[in-house]
Amino acid sequence: MKLVFLGPPGIGKGTYARAVSKRYNIPHISTGDIFREEIKKNTELGRRIKGYVERGELVPDDIVIEVVKQRLRQPDCRKGFILDGFPRTIRQAEALDEIARVDLALNFVAPDEVIIERISGRRICTRCGAIYHIKFMPPKYVGVCDNCGGPLILRKDDRPEVVRHRLEIYREKFAPILDYYRRRKLLVDIDASEQAPQVIPKIIKVLETYFHSEET
Ligand code: ADP
Ligand code: ZN
Repeated sequence: MKLVFLGPPGIGKGTYARAVSKRYNIPHISTGDIFREEIKKNTELGRRIKGYVERGELVPDDIVIEVVKQRLRQPDCRKGFILDGFPRTIRQAEALDEIARVDLALNFVAPDEVIIERISGRRICTRCGAIYHIKFMPPKYVGVCDNCGGPLILRKDDRPEVVRHRLEIYREKFAPILDYYRRRKLLVDIDASEQAPQVIPKIIKVLETYFHSEET
């Protein structure tokens, strides 16, 4: 089950990837997570990519491709994997084709308004990092963390106008990647406008249909 997860920021890709990873026992590979970890550990790779990640720029293709290639060579990827945050450019998509045969690219979709409500309702504890949502997962007391009593804030880039801008950039930048997989008939749209507990069963259904039951 070699999967690529695609979709705009705030669509819940990470949550879906973790659920699918657990159910089918295949690794969830997020290039963003890998990079943040390398930066935290201050490895040679971490030092090379730090500037790009901090500026929110794409890490150069050669570096990203090498990282993914090595990761996919690990034995835990033999049965399959979920790529999250990769590919982000056509060059990366082409390189991936040479490394592995992707079975499906799941494209998570939802109207902008839904995504904006989801992201701009998010509140983060400045002390412990816990995440809430004013509507879908409110804290017991407004503006106060249930865990530690710390103050909850709205991250700057989670403000509605900033989210709207991030979505525009996403649509523009990702159109070629979506086309790439659509042309190869590997793209499956999944409606992610509901909450995760409703979306995850839809994903499982698509996967079960596609992979029958003999392959996991
Ligand atoms: P976000 O969705 O906030 O952009 P990610 O966790 O996917 O976050 O990635 C964080 C950062 O890591 C990106 O801003 C970029 O600098 C780098 N990165 C992650 N994946 C890639 C990729 N496939 N190609 C280039 N850079 C990447
Ligand atoms: Zn807290």
